[in-house]
Parts: sequence; structure tokens; C-alpha cells
Amino acid sequence: MSSPGVVWVRRQWNDDRDGKYRLAEVAGWHLSTESGGINQNAPRPFIHAYVQCDKMIQGELAHSGAHGPCPHRIKVCVTKKMNKEFWKEIQSALATEQVKRKNTG
Ligand SMILES: [Zn+2]
Repeated sequence: MSSPGVVWVRRQWNDDRDGKYRLAEVAGWHLSTESGGINQNAPRPFIHAYVQCDKMIQGELAHSGAHGPCPHRIKVCVTKKMNKEFWKEIQSALATEQVKRKNTG
């Protein structure tokens, strides 16, 4: 059974628009200081991941469709402040992804 967890994501760590996704719809978890879209640098590493722009279940993301016709994959930032409820699940998703990457080189 898939996790019922949800995660709030934003395009950049300091963006004020957030979109809500099911944890199962989020992939490619990693730590990065580089955000999607305009590639602004964050002051410290934040958790980033990838979502499909049309899979949002609630909220709003800064997203122009400038990378091509929707739907497409966008890089998003995941902050702890917005995600206290499922932070453990998010950290375990990140850890799983890191192990996977280490094993495949
Ligand atoms: Zn799109």
C-alpha cells in the first residue's frame, strides 16, 4: 500500500506559493542549493525533488510552462516548516533515494 502522506512544495526555498502533492507523486529526492526555474541559489542545502506540474492536489506553484507544453516535470523545494506532519516520511524518502544512487553509482 502506498503512503497516504502529502508534501507541500515550492519552486524556491523562499517562494511564497506552495503546492500540495501526494508523497507517492514526488520523485528524485536530493539535497541541493540550486532551485528549479530561474536557478537561484539558496543560502544552505534544502531538500529538492521533482513533481509533474499537473499532479498538484491543492495550492499554487510559480510555474509558467516556459519549459514546454504541460504536463512536464518541475524541480521543487521542500522545506521543513511547511512539512512538519510528514517530515519523517520525507526524510526517509530522501534517504532511500540516496542509498539507491550510491548503489547504482
Ligand atoms: Zn506545466
